[in-house]
Amino acid sequence: MPAETRLFLCRSDNYGVLLHDPQSGATAAIDAPEAAPIEAALKETGWKLTDILVTHHHADHTDGIEALKAKYNCRVVAPAAEAAKIPAVDETVREGDTVKVGNLSANVIETPGHTLGHIAYWFHADKLAFVGDTLFSIGCGRVIEGTPPQMWQSLLKLRDLPDDTEIYCGHEYTAANIKFALTIEPDNPALTARDAQAREQIAEKQPTIPTTIGDEKLANPFLRADRPEVAADIGMAGKPAAEVFTEIRARKNRF
Ligand SMILES: [Zn+2]
Repeated sequence: MPAETRLFLCRSDNYGVLLHDPQSGATAAIDAPEAAPIEAALKETGWKLTDILVTHHHADHTDGIEALKAKYNCRVVAPAAEAAKIPAVDETVREGDTVKVGNLSANVIETPGHTLGHIAYWFHADKLAFVGDTLFSIGCGRVIEGTPPQMWQSLLKLRDLPDDTEIYCGHEYTAANIKFALTIEPDNPALTARDAQAREQIAEKQPTIPTTIGDEKLANPFLRADRPEVAADIGMAGKPAAEVFTEIRARKNRF
């Protein structure tokens, strides 16, 4: 039976998401930005929380863990490199490890850059990836602890996932990301189409995610730093992709 998901907003622009295995009844929260909206989503779905899968240590991804753990006694899985900064961790994971949620199975992908221990969870059979603050729709996370070349390598790992992989990210930043992306590739038809689609989604108060790897490859400038036309667009024709990425990320920081 295929996995089911439930997406909802937490705090101001964080996404909470529940992943449910209908066969076993297991349910994971991916990160825990805030306990109350997660509890509300559990109530609405009738699902019982069994696991919390943490992508990185930032408070807006972990503040709800202790309250949820106290109430549901769920297992907390966290990146090994950041476990000391995350409350109530039961199990730590690294690159290549497998995490089970009932019968659902995820591969752990280390994606350092935003934070040094950041990980993503890829449920390959269900074509789902939970990428935290590494990849956003038409954007990527700020490079806070790592280096831009390291972030570029992390994004390449996610870009290598199958095109039909659905991507759940940690924030609703799509509108602002598109505004910036249009300064890099104003004539990219996939980007202008995504702009129109996102405007519609936002007007209808719908989330702009999940997105897919295939769509992001076509329109997200941060996944396109090795495209000759992108380098040319920003006056860096012939430069290495990591340098082009670094420049695009620096421009976004100033935007
Ligand atoms: Zn973060």
